[in-house]
Amino acid sequence: MSKSTLLGKLRTQEELFTRMAKQIWEKPELGYTESYASSLQAHLLEKEGFSLTMEVGGIPTAFIAEYGAGKPIIGILGEFDALPGLSQQVSPIYDPITVGGPGHGCGHNLLGTAGVEAIISLKQQMIEDKMQGTIRYYGCPAEELLSGKTFMARDGVFDDLDCVLTWHPGSMNAAANYSMQALTGVEFFFSGRTAHAGGAPHLGRSALDAVELMNVGANYLREHVPDGSRIHYQITNGGQAPNIVPDQASVYYFLRGADRKAVDHLFERLIKVAQGAAMMTETTVSWHIKAGCYDTLPNAVLNDLMHAQGEHTDPIEFTAEEEKFAEQLRNSIHPDVLAASSMEASILPEGTLLATPFINEKTLYGKTIGGSSDIGDVSWITPMGQITTTCAPVGVQVHTWQATASFGSSIGMKGMHYAAQIMALSAYDLLLNKDGILEQAKSEFAESTSRKGITFKAGIPEEVKPPVPEGIKNAVTIQ
Ligand SMILES: [Zn+2]
Repeated sequence: MSKSTLLGKLRTQEELFTRMAKQIWEKPELGYTESYASSLQAHLLEKEGFSLTMEVGGIPTAFIAEYGAGKPIIGILGEFDALPGLSQQVSPIYDPITVGGPGHGCGHNLLGTAGVEAIISLKQQMIEDKMQGTIRYYGCPAEELLSGKTFMARDGVFDDLDCVLTWHPGSMNAAANYSMQALTGVEFFFSGRTAHAGGAPHLGRSALDAVELMNVGANYLREHVPDGSRIHYQITNGGQAPNIVPDQASVYYFLRGADRKAVDHLFERLIKVAQGAAMMTETTVSWHIKAGCYDTLPNAVLNDLMHAQGEHTDPIEFTAEEEKFAEQLRNSIHPDVLAASSMEASILPEGTLLATPFINEKTLYGKTIGGSSDIGDVSWITPMGQITTTCAPVGVQVHTWQATASFGSSIGMKGMHYAAQIMALSAYDLLLNKDGILEQAKSEFAESTSRKGITFKAGIPEEVKPPVPEGIKNAVTIQ
C-alpha cells in the first residue's frame, strides 16, 4: 500500500532532516535575514528536482519550490526565522550560547524543516505512483514580525492553491481547531521642535510628550474595547538625552482582535488618540503600517483529515532520558505558569510531561487563543489544515529560553518528524482527492468566509515594501 511506502521513505530520511533542523537551530536568523536557512532548504529542494521561484513578494529569503503539473495544487507552509534574545543551549538551566543573541524559541527551525521533509518524500511517492497534481513548499520568512506571508499573499502566490497544510511546534499533538487573533502592527512618528531643555524649554515642542500622552490615551481606550482585544506598545525612540527637548519620537503598537474588521476598527480609534496627543503637544504625527495579518480560519474538514493520519503513523515515544530533561526544564518554570499553561492544561491529564496522544478537540472551534500569525492571511485565501505536535514539555511557553532548549533537543526533533508524517500522508490523500475531500474543504471555506462577509485584501498597503535589511541576498545566490 502506497501510504505505507510513503511512511517508509519518511522514516529512512529522518536523519537528514534532524541535521537540517539542528543546523538552522545553531544559526538562528531574525526575520528577513534568514539567508542561511532558506538557502539550505531551497538548495536541497532544487537538488531533489523541485523548480524554484525566488524572491517571492519582493523578499530575498522567500521562495516557492514546486513539483508536478496541473490540478490539484497542494501547498505546505514553512517558516525559519528566530527571535531576538532567546539564545540558549540544549540545557535545563539558563545558559545562552550568545548572551542577548537570537534563538529558536518558537521552533521555526523545526517548522520549515518538517515541510521540506514531508514534500520530498511525497514527491518520490508521486513518481512511484504516477500521481497527477502539483505540490508546493512555501519558504516563508519573518513570521515573528507577522508580515512575511502578508507580503507574499499581497503578490497573489497563494491564490491558485486548492488547499494548504501547516503545523506548529507545541506541547501536544492536536488538530488546531481554534483561531488566533488578527493583528495590526503600526509605528507612530511624532515630530516637534527641539530646544535646550534647561535654557529654553518654552521654545521646545516635545515629540516624547506626544508619545507619552498617546500611550496614556491608549491605556484609557483599553476599557472600552471588545473583550479579547489586545493593545501593546514599545517606545522605539524616546529622544537622545534629557537635556534636549526631543523633536522626534516614535512608538510601535500591536493591536489584536477577533478578526480583521475588529482590528481595523480599533486602529481607527487609536489614530484619533495619536492625533489628540499631537494636538495637545503642538507636534505632528504620521504612521507606518508594518503588519496587518488576519485571524486564522480553521478548516474542520482538513483538520479532521490530518488527525485521521494518526492511525497510519507511529506514535511518538519518548525515552526516560527525554522525560528527565522535560522534568528538569519544568523545574525552571514558575508553578503559576505551569498551572496556567493554557490549552494543554484543559485538555491533557494533570501531570503530563510529554504528551503523546493525538487529540482532535472539537470544543475548541469558535474559540480564539491569544497570539497571532501571518498564516491567518493564507487561511482566508485557501482552506488551511493545521496541527501542533509535541516538541516541548507541557508548561514550556513558546518565546522563552526553555522553548529554545526544547526545540533544539531530540524532543523537538521527534515532534518534527511526526508533523512531517502527518502532512505528507494528508497531502497524499488530497492529491488523490479521496472521497471528494477537496470539495468538502472548499465548501466549508466558502461557507465560513461568506458568513463573516470578508474577502481577503492584504492588511499592509501596496506602497509599503518588505523591511529587508541592506545586503540580504536571494537564497540561491548563496552556496
Ligand atoms: Zn511560531
